[in-house]
Amino acid sequence: MSELLSGNEALARGLYEAGVTVAAGYPGTPSTEILEALSRYKDEVYCEWSPNEKVAFEVAAGAALAGARAACTMKHVGLNVAADPLMTLSYIGTRGGFVACVADDPGQHSSQNEQDTRHYARFAKIPVFEPADSGEAKELVALAFEVSERFETPVILRTTTRVSHSRGLVTRGERRTPPAVAFERDPPRYVPIPIWGRKMRVKVEERLGRLAEEASRSSANRLEWADRRLGIVAVGVAYGYVKEVFPEASVLKLSWCYPFPDALLQEFAAGVEQVLVVEELDDIVEEHVKALGVLCRGKDVVARIGELSAARLRETRARLEGRDPAAASVPLAPEAADLPGRPPVLCPGCPHRGVFHGLGKLDVVVTGDIGCYSLGVFPPLNRTDTILCMGAGVTMAHGMDRAGEPRKVVGIVGDSTFFHSGITGLLDIAYNRGGSTIIVVDNRTTAMTGHQDHPGTGRTLMGEPTGEVSIEALGRACGIRRVVTVDPYDLKATAAALKAEVEAPEPSLVVSRAPCPLHTRSRLGPPRRIDPEACVQCGSCVKLGCPAIESDAEAVRINELLCLGCGMCGQVCKLDAVRTEGEEGGHG
Ligand code: SF4
Ligand code: SF4
Repeated sequence: MSELLSGNEALARGLYEAGVTVAAGYPGTPSTEILEALSRYKDEVYCEWSPNEKVAFEVAAGAALAGARAACTMKHVGLNVAADPLMTLSYIGTRGGFVACVADDPGQHSSQNEQDTRHYARFAKIPVFEPADSGEAKELVALAFEVSERFETPVILRTTTRVSHSRGLVTRGERRTPPAVAFERDPPRYVPIPIWGRKMRVKVEERLGRLAEEASRSSANRLEWADRRLGIVAVGVAYGYVKEVFPEASVLKLSWCYPFPDALLQEFAAGVEQVLVVEELDDIVEEHVKALGVLCRGKDVVARIGELSAARLRETRARLEGRDPAAASVPLAPEAADLPGRPPVLCPGCPHRGVFHGLGKLDVVVTGDIGCYSLGVFPPLNRTDTILCMGAGVTMAHGMDRAGEPRKVVGIVGDSTFFHSGITGLLDIAYNRGGSTIIVVDNRTTAMTGHQDHPGTGRTLMGEPTGEVSIEALGRACGIRRVVTVDPYDLKATAAALKAEVEAPEPSLVVSRAPCPLHTRSRLGPPRRIDPEACVQCGSCVKLGCPAIESDAEAVRINELLCLGCGMCGQVCKLDAVRTEGEEGGHG
């Protein structure tokens, strides 16, 4: 049976059919839906959201050493977190199959950087597969496990945004569970202390040679001979764009790009007059083709930054043919070109707004983190000064404080991010006698990736109730003596608490707790409106940055369809101009 699935759903189906019994991950766009879709098979597959990607990787590695087929999922920056176990699992190798599904985000649609996961595969000396579409994504899972088990190696299955989120035809198959094997004690194989680790290092290199030969023979890579004047090496998702823009060219379709299939690359290069390498992001294959002594074009004519597309490849074609690439580009439809720029903003009724409002009253440096609250950097809130990576909102606050920053430093981190990698930073601050204030904006979910559970929500990915970790208790256990909890919708109390904690002569933890209204799907109160008679258009409520509050030269208004009734605008209006339906005056 065939069905239309996104690349992520196809990967989940592939993992299920491949007989995976343990899967772990941390949500991150564009990878999140893989594990969510896989958890629908929870009767046969154990799935978990781990606190971070390193944990997820290690859980899957443990399962694979015990003989199970295991997988972990993450986005590209998540693999940075899991890089430590990745490098050594390559040495130890696997027993059951191990596949890490890693989704890259060319174009940085929802990421702090644009990085190419294939570097990690080469760094760790393990295979990487790259599907061109949903159908191939599912098929490659089966091949990835077969290769993983046959060569006793972890494998990376890399997708990029377009494959992860676009839909394609996928043919369903049956689930096949490999025979169970138990862990067998064998320290020289599984314990990389130097005396054994050095032997493993040699085996890694030998394995790489055998894998390169296999990649040249693999059905994942395919020669399509046509006009021999131009031969295009099309890697992963680029294949579809190449077929559309260069329909006449010969193509070497690569879906298993590392270890490089040298024999196949050489055979292809020998059969065409000119070679062009088309790959998304970095010039990994191109660089290797050149190292083989093959003259080729690549990133000199193909975009290096951002997502590839057929439109961008038309510009490549123009460059190759000596035409003006600008003339080959497809102009935006007039209505799209005319759209005003819309900076991202916190949702109407978002509890984080109360914290940023309070921070706006203080002369402090704010080190931010990864999550919805990173939107506090934009006007009119303008209340985040740095963002680096998960957990760095906490640690960078301590670093600035220790560097002698004259203002007080406040670190801000979400609840899921706190569990991911904020706890160790807080421990560092307490242990090393820091002075910063850390705010955990706890909206009871992993909001930015689509409301996934985490150790603080009291529910697992399998839908089971579980212990609900207290952030306050964790803070105290780390050694923080000043721990306060605030209701961010109470602007006055929140601002007062922040002021007191920032001025305190010791580190403190503020937990701002209120659930994400998009997650609870409940109104916070009746919709507000602004009484035009009472309003003097001072703009104080506009500075909250609530998308429901609209203003122009004539008036300030509230869009009642957007308003969730949180009441914050009423609290900032000194003239009581914010009303609820039927109300004559008074606070919103
Ligand atoms: S804060 Fe009050 S007076 Fe000022 S613009 Fe808003 S509604 Fe009008
Ligand atoms: S009550 Fe005011 S701040 Fe809250 S959602 Fe409505 S308009 Fe926005």
